[in-house]
Formats: sequence, structure tokens, C-alpha cells
Amino acid sequence: MDKKIFLILGDQLSEEHPFLQRKNWQKNETLMMIESLPRADWLPYHPQKLLYVFACMRRFAHELKKSDPQRPFLYVSGSDESFTALLNKQKASEIHLVEPSEPRALEWISARLEAKIVLHPNPFFLADDSLLPAKPPYLMENFYRKMRVRLNVLMEDGEPAGGQWNFDKDNRLAPDRRWEQNPPADFFSENWLDETDRRIYAEVSLMLRNYLPADRFGDFVIPPLPTHAAPARKFLSAFVAERLEKFGPYEDAMLEQSVGLFHSGLSALMNLQILSAREIVDAAAGAPARVEMSSREGFIRQVIGWREFVRLIYIRHRKEYGESNFFGFTGALPPLYWGAPSKLNCLSTVVRQVKETAYSHHIPRLMVLGNFALLTNTNPHEVNNWFWSVYLDAYEWVVSPNVLGMSQFADGGVFATKPYVSGANYINKMSNYCQSCSYDPKQTLGERACPFNALYWSFIDETQKLKVSRPSFARRMGMMWSVWNKKTPAEQEQIRERARELKAAAREGKI
Ligand code: FAD
Ligand code: SF4
Repeated sequence: MDKKIFLILGDQLSEEHPFLQRKNWQKNETLMMIESLPRADWLPYHPQKLLYVFACMRRFAHELKKSDPQRPFLYVSGSDESFTALLNKQKASEIHLVEPSEPRALEWISARLEAKIVLHPNPFFLADDSLLPAKPPYLMENFYRKMRVRLNVLMEDGEPAGGQWNFDKDNRLAPDRRWEQNPPADFFSENWLDETDRRIYAEVSLMLRNYLPADRFGDFVIPPLPTHAAPARKFLSAFVAERLEKFGPYEDAMLEQSVGLFHSGLSALMNLQILSAREIVDAAAGAPARVEMSSREGFIRQVIGWREFVRLIYIRHRKEYGESNFFGFTGALPPLYWGAPSKLNCLSTVVRQVKETAYSHHIPRLMVLGNFALLTNTNPHEVNNWFWSVYLDAYEWVVSPNVLGMSQFADGGVFATKPYVSGANYINKMSNYCQSCSYDPKQTLGERACPFNALYWSFIDETQKLKVSRPSFARRMGMMWSVWNKKTPAEQEQIRERARELKAAAREGKI
């Protein structure tokens, strides 16, 4: 009889995976998972990312065997061979696969497999393309409202619960200064591993220690996050009970003493499908009454709004993303992103946190790391690869639209209507980074002036040249251009000169 393989990919670790629902396995059918080490070489991934993915895969396999020891199951661990070579060795006639979250993965597999691929629909996402307009501009808010109605989340008699669709304006508080002495416990504060996880991590650590170069960026330590569904549910409940209440108001706040503040830390779990987006949203919607609508809605908007929205944009525009570079920036990524010492306290703090935890919440990613890369005219694809390499939750479908689209504006406005850039003012308002920085956030010129300021104005100056070709861009940037145009020519020239020096210094690691 012809052999059939039912393959579960490493980011499809869902208890609801369609292949786990199959009964009556035939003699010629095998469920299979593959760990291929060459896949770990595609980019200089943070060690914690690799530790976590391999540990979650092995834990999933462990649970799968426990739940049904009779099911025919093959787990290939730590192979030096490529994923597709291992599959071809099976000499199967059919490889069954739930459609990968990343279409490029399917193209890559299809080009190399000898067997016929039988695709099964991907049930892991909540939205489909019909929810986007036929062409850009795409407005997340419109998409999100349709999602609320479609999923019937936070709806009362066809109207938004609380009388408003969006409470974003309530969600902009700066961190409380008292937290510097006594930082709130974030999601890293508890360890969610059990004995089985520890055994698995010991094996995976040994494998990766021998495999990864010693100078790889990122601390080689075990992430304390849940590896499988049962503790993940407790992790989710802990977020809803302990942090969701403050999530909304302090969503944009950044604190040197706490990497996660009131954020959930759920992205890494969700992107591996350990917990479903639906389960997470239902838990947040059903939070205790003391949790205000601004927090409940704010969090749910991230999951059914932003997360699903970026994925649809990626699926539609991924081919353009591959080449996109709207501003034509070609600068190399400054070495501070790889941990080179820097006097910019915001960047050195966030990079240190990434090195230690493979995590930052949304605002450091966007307004510190992404902002600085854009202001220093860095090649957006180098920026994209950095984000993809160093975060625990990074997968192409979610990195590329966020980095190339939202953060670097490399797509020229498919995703966002204007670039997310700012001077020191925003960082100073929303964090305590500036207090212990050797630069002064209030100054634009002079030795002690915060580099973000001159870089910001120089960026505004340079982008002004684009206004003719992109009227919508001009509309959004117009106010900043007019502020720039009111500066005296002498001041403008000084700012340009300072920005030139700063960009060179950033690349030479002297900033
Ligand atoms: P919370 O603040 O607790 O938010 C809840 C959930 O909302 C997240 O878990 C996530 O699933 C979802 N979410 C919110 N915003 C987004 C968004 N823009 N895109 C996708 N999901 C979103 N998210 C990733 O999952 N992987 C990435 O590689 C990634 N790279 C990013 C790069 C840049 C430059 C930016 C600006 C954002 C990126 N994001 C990425 C989105 C967002 O920053 C992270 O999802 C979030 O910080 C994860 O932490 P959390 O789970 O504690 O999030
Ligand atoms: Fe960052 Fe400038 Fe603030 Fe220093 S002063 S922390 S460089 S924003």
C-alpha cells in the first residue's frame, strides 16, 4: 500500500490540529513531526527562540503520545538533514499538510518534495481576505469592527459594548514613577515549567549548545514560558486576573525596570498555536467586572484586530514586501542592535532586554528600535532580519508586515498612512529611559543633545522631497513639514550636519 504521511509543522502545535481529530489510522498512515537543525541556520536566531520552539515541539509530541499511545507517530529529533530530504526519505506517495501560516513555507516545501502534497485548510486564524477592501488604503479600525461583529465579541444587541468601538484615547498613561523602586511583576515573574519540561530542555540545550556558535546574540537561558496547552491556560488566566486591568491604561508605557509591564506575553504561544486566539479573546472578554472596558477592548483589539489584520496584509502583499524599500535606504544596521555599547539609554536598555529575554512589548519595538533604524536610514531588510532573528514570537507572516510595513514604511503606505517616527519627546514622555541617559531629550543641537531629535528633523526634511509623488503621504506629513520649514535656514543646516554626523557615528558604533 502507498505510504501516507500526515505532517504537523513546528508552528502548528494546537490541540485542535485537524490531524489529531482523525480516528481509525490505517496501516500505511503515519503522523509525523520533524526537527531539522539546518532550518535553525536560516538566520542568527536568538538561542531562546530555538530552545523554545524545539522544547514546545517535543512537549507537544509527548502529550500526543500520552493521549493516544496507539496512534502511529514518528518524531524525528535534531536531524542534520534538511526537512524535505527527511520527508523524501520516507518514500511516501502523499504528504498531508495543514496549510502553513506562511505561504512561502509551502512554496519552499513543494519545490523540493517528491511526494504529492495534499493540503488541508488552516483553521488557526479567525479572519479571511473578504474582510479587507479590494485595494489599499486598508484601515485597521474598519477591519476590526467587522471582526467584532463577525465573532460577536464585546457586542450588545448589535452595538459595541460600552457604547464605543475603541477606547484607545484612554490608553496612553506614562509609567508610574513609584514602579522604579518596586516594579510590577510582569509575565516573566513566574516559572511555568514542570519536570517533563525540564528534562526536555536539558536535552534540547545539549543539542543546541553543540550546534550554535558561541558568539550568537542572545542569552542561552531557558524561557520560563509554558510549553504546552495546560499551563498556557493558567498563564492566560494569570494575565486576565493580575495584569489585564492595567493593560489598557499603560499599554504604551515603557520602564527600564520591567520588560513586560502589564503585557500578556501571549504572542509566542499564540504564534505556535499552543493557545488559540479565540480562547484568548474569550478569556479577556469574560474578565472580572473590575477590569474596565478600556483594557478589555484594548487587548481584544490587539488580537482580533491587529494580529489578524497584519496577517491578511502579509498574505496579499508578501511578494511586494520581498523587494520593498520606499525610501531607498541602504545603511547598515548599527552595531548597537547586536549589543555593541551605546550611550543611548533607551536603545541600550531595550537591546539588553531583548538579549536577556527575546522579548519587548510593542512600543519599544516600534518607537525605540524601529524608529531609530528608520531615522538612521537603515536598509529595511536588514532591520526586518534583525527583528526576525531576535524575538521569541517572530515568524515571517507577522514580522514582515510589522517591520517593513508598519515600522519602516518600506511598502510606501500599504500598511500605515505615515511612518512611525518621533524625536525624544515621545520616549521621554512614555518611559523613564531618559532620566538616566547621558543625552538630553530636550536639546536638538550640541554635544549632549539627544540624537533622536536632529535625526527626526532631518528625516522630516528628507521626506519632504517625496510629497509630489505621494499625495496621501503629503497629507499626513504636511504638518511636520510646515514646522520644519519655519526653522531658519541656518538652523536647518546645523540640524542636517548633526544628523549626518550621527548617522555615521551610529554605523561606526560611536554613539
Ligand atoms: P500584548 O501587548 O499583550 O498584545 C496581545 C497580542 O496582540 C499579542 O500577543 C499579539 O498576538 C497581538 N498583537 C498586537 N499587535 C500586533 C501586531 N502589530 N501584529 C501582530 N500581532 C499583534 N508580533 C509578533 O507576534 N511577532 C513578531 O515578530 C512581531 N514583530 C513586531 C515588530 C515590530 C517592529 C512591531 C512594531 C511589532 C511587532 N509585533 C510582532 C507586534 C507586537 O509588538 C507583538 O505582538 C507584541 O509586542 C507581543 O507581546 P505580547 O504578547 O506581550 O503582546
Ligand atoms: Fe533615548 Fe534620547 Fe531619551 Fe537618551 S535622551 S533615552 S537617547 S530618547
